[in-house]
Amino acid sequence: MEWSGGQAERPGRGRRVLVVGGGIAGLGAAQRLRAHPAFSQLRVLEATARAGGRIRSERGFGGVLELGAHWIHGPSRGNPVFELAAEHRLLREKDLSEENQRMETGGHVGLPSVTYASSGVSVSRELVVETASLFHSLIDQAREFVRGAAAPAPSVGEYVRGALRALAAGWTDREDARRLRLALMHNFLNVECCVSGTHSMDLVALAPFGEYTVLPGLDCTFPGGYQGLTNHIMASLPEDMIIFNKPVKTIHWNGSFQEAASPGETFPVLVECEDGGCFPAHHVIVTVPLGFLKEHVDTFFEPPLPTEKADAIRKLGFGTNNKIFLEFEEPFWEPGCQHIQVVWEDMSPLEDVASQLQDVWFKKLIGFWVLPSFESVHVLCGFIAGLESEFMETLTDEEVLLSLTQVLRRVTGNARLPAPRSVLRSRWHSAPYTRGSYSYVAVGSTGEDIDRLARPLPEDGAEAQLQILFAGEATHRTFYSTTHGALLSGWREADRLIALQDPQAQLPGPQL
Ligand SMILES: Cc1cc2nc3c(=O)[nH]c(=O)nc-3n(C[C@H](O)[C@H](O)[C@H](O)COP(=O)(O)OP(=O)(O)OC[C@H]3O[C@@H](n4cnc5c(N)ncnc54)[C@H](O)[C@@H]3O)c2cc1C
Repeated sequence: MEWSGGQAERPGRGRRVLVVGGGIAGLGAAQRLRAHPAFSQLRVLEATARAGGRIRSERGFGGVLELGAHWIHGPSRGNPVFELAAEHRLLREKDLSEENQRMETGGHVGLPSVTYASSGVSVSRELVVETASLFHSLIDQAREFVRGAAAPAPSVGEYVRGALRALAAGWTDREDARRLRLALMHNFLNVECCVSGTHSMDLVALAPFGEYTVLPGLDCTFPGGYQGLTNHIMASLPEDMIIFNKPVKTIHWNGSFQEAASPGETFPVLVECEDGGCFPAHHVIVTVPLGFLKEHVDTFFEPPLPTEKADAIRKLGFGTNNKIFLEFEEPFWEPGCQHIQVVWEDMSPLEDVASQLQDVWFKKLIGFWVLPSFESVHVLCGFIAGLESEFMETLTDEEVLLSLTQVLRRVTGNARLPAPRSVLRSRWHSAPYTRGSYSYVAVGSTGEDIDRLARPLPEDGAEAQLQILFAGEATHRTFYSTTHGALLSGWREADRLIALQDPQAQLPGPQL
């Protein structure tokens, strides 16, 4: 049994709490509990060698590369990530402005600066604006079914394609113009796959789609790296509170465990680690990603989870979105260009083309964002979701670099475009303690499944209450997939424990 003293432990006997996972949900929960005297014995067990989880900023190419979370979605008062980032002065002045906070984007990705098509021409701004506006209106309509009207299709993808098919029947364009319109639509659907972290919008349930809540504010980034935020939380915790390289194997619950160092005391939970270490505790807050839970649902809990909760884990969606960074000697894009869209004219949302992943994986790449604030180098960040993204993870850097050089030469119509100097990418699907990027409400599941996943155990009012609590982005009904959803979920579970111990406690906001 491992539970040694140290700074993390304060005098007096309190409730012993273990937090599994040192991402923003776990760190947020630990910080909140640490502030309450009842929780003097607190540890965070983290499987990897670093804190932050899917918030991961690395120095590279002369700047900061975000391998995980990129933007604060909806940066405005009320978004706890925005508020903390502002408090710690991690944002640019313009991103703090009232004007920025008031912007209503509807959650849509901004328009590209330039759109290249696979025949090597750039697409007219007018067509891109018109097609984007049509696409966004279809996505807005898809969000409306949450208000009660019967959803006419099971998935967002089928709904959008149905509406598009009807609209396309009325188009009077020439065949090539019509194909280009559909190719743009295909790209916008792929953008939406990146936003939802899914292989296809046909996998994303239509009826609950609108439950995801978009906060006001124009999305912004952290000039010094997103990880500045988790580093601040870490700095407020005692150094020995987090135990790194400590993957948890099984959480034994509903038991009566003892340890030699605490004679006479029993604990309802025992956390067993992969290295054989065991930690008895009164409460455990599980913040591991849904992707990890899906893979280990049958062995991670002993006794196994109640059927309803295990089913929620199986049914909810968790897909892959990756980034590919390319470093160039000289930019081939215009000054001021922020976002390059890449459209394949042979792709259409109204046609299925059966092809081998190795031949077409790169067509899922939606385009590139130009990274600002790199001094002497020029860096593009491409986004790619789904099975193609998972396939990309199996390729070598050289293979990825070669394919993307060919793509860029083709779409810019410049066969001599210099190849990027180097490539760096994320591989979230292969990461054993993540197994993908973020969650979505999949066809066959509803927002209720998120709540089922979030419900603490045991559910039957047993004597030892709140043995296992669940936090992490996938447990937030309206902000799933985001850093603010993850942070709020960690606070929610910390507050739940505090309320059990101290019903009079004044819990700090926000309670979004
Ligand atoms: C490519 C990408 C882009 C993204 N972009 C954005 C964005 O722009 N804006 C936004 O708001 N969100 C974005 N997100 C999502 C955001 O990063 C996550 O929602 C959030 O960081 C999740 O926090 P978490 O604490 O719930 O989980 P995590 O950060 O995944 O933390 C869970 C921790 O648990 C650990 N763990 C797993 N298994 C075990 C085990 N058995 N034992 C011990 N520890 C374990 C993991 O190592 C990890 O550190 C993005 C994510 C990705 C991958």
